[in-house]
Amino acid sequence: MIWYPYQQMKTMREPYRIVDAEGVYIYTEDKKLIDSTSSWWSVIHGYKNPKITKAIKDQADVFSHVMLGGLTHDSVLKLASKLKDFLPGDLDYCFFSDSGSVAVEVALKMALQFYVNKNDLKRTKILSLTHSYHGDTFKTMEAGDDEDYHFILKAYGENPNVVHVDTNIDDLEAAFKKHHEELNCFIVEPLLQGAGGMRMYDISFLKRARELCDEYGVLLIFDEVATGFGRTGYRFVSDLVLPDIVVLGKALTGGHIGHAVTVANQKVYDGFYSDDPDCALMHGPTFMGNALACSAALASIELFEEGKYMEKIAHIAQLTKETMEGFSRPGIKDVRMMGGCICIEVEDSSLLKGYQEFAYERGVFARPFLNYLYAMVPYIITDDELLKVLNTMKEWFDRG
Ligand SMILES: *Cc1c(COP(=O)(O)O)cnc(C)c1O
Repeated sequence: MIWYPYQQMKTMREPYRIVDAEGVYIYTEDKKLIDSTSSWWSVIHGYKNPKITKAIKDQADVFSHVMLGGLTHDSVLKLASKLKDFLPGDLDYCFFSDSGSVAVEVALKMALQFYVNKNDLKRTKILSLTHSYHGDTFKTMEAGDDEDYHFILKAYGENPNVVHVDTNIDDLEAAFKKHHEELNCFIVEPLLQGAGGMRMYDISFLKRARELCDEYGVLLIFDEVATGFGRTGYRFVSDLVLPDIVVLGKALTGGHIGHAVTVANQKVYDGFYSDDPDCALMHGPTFMGNALACSAALASIELFEEGKYMEKIAHIAQLTKETMEGFSRPGIKDVRMMGGCICIEVEDSSLLKGYQEFAYERGVFARPFLNYLYAMVPYIITDDELLKVLNTMKEWFDRG
């Protein structure tokens, strides 16, 4: 018996059973559906990408996995070296994990220990955004701010180790002023807050955050698990404002196999580099640097570099804008878009009830949540396919 995610098992509808997947399409026995979610935003090159599939197969013929405890291998070495070149600034030190949540945990652990290693034991707090989502493990739930996902934390009462702030510069300055002596990091989903409701905000906020972090000696962490690899219309938001630590996941392997990475800059790495064994980072996911995943990630990054992806994403953004801008119907609170993400926020979640089945009948797979009807399509989508996704969203509000 499978226990499915984010579901009341008693009332869950039967999940669609997928028998094949290729390009933007997923197939049930009798239906062909455009996946407008890219399987939780990860399958940026589409399903069964031949280059990624071949990379995984070729690696499997050599070996599928060896641990990184005392061992290393070509695929992980190549990927780390690729990421060093591919990522901006001195984001050069790659710590691999098996999932985004774990990679965020690692970033938060790095931030705390960075100060512990300096014998600064006062900096125990995290600053993060209201409505943020950083994963479903315990520390990431704490850093997050989403009652809909993490309401169980209320069993613990107030959380003294996290301060939340809105995406507003005045509030940010006030939070730094008040808490800076106790903060080890400020963690954000840069520009686009995904699971917290596809909330978008301005780059000026992040520029100010960088200044404040420098002024007060607080580490800046970008959780680019969702935003990385072009989703916001920028390759990485880290290209615009350089964080001390960036976390990548989801699209890292083109969505073909789970993997994530926490990439630290020189300053963070130096905070651990020492003759003292106690200053080492005590973390080591069993499957970190998995050879199949690293091979997939390398192939995915090569595709991203060779395939003019930033142009593809700009085109998706443009066509989305032409099709959706100004769309307004009773019950719609907001229509917002950024890069390869479009979200219709409704006044009441009941207004989206039945949308999944409606879209399914029209050949689109969608998974609205709460008050948010969104699309984050694979970047290889054609104009006709994208229009089908967008028009299905519009038709829902115009049905009889
Ligand atoms: C999905 C997501 C995570 C968690 O990644 P998992 O691989 O699901 O553990 C963390 N941060 C952000 C911003 C995400 O969107």
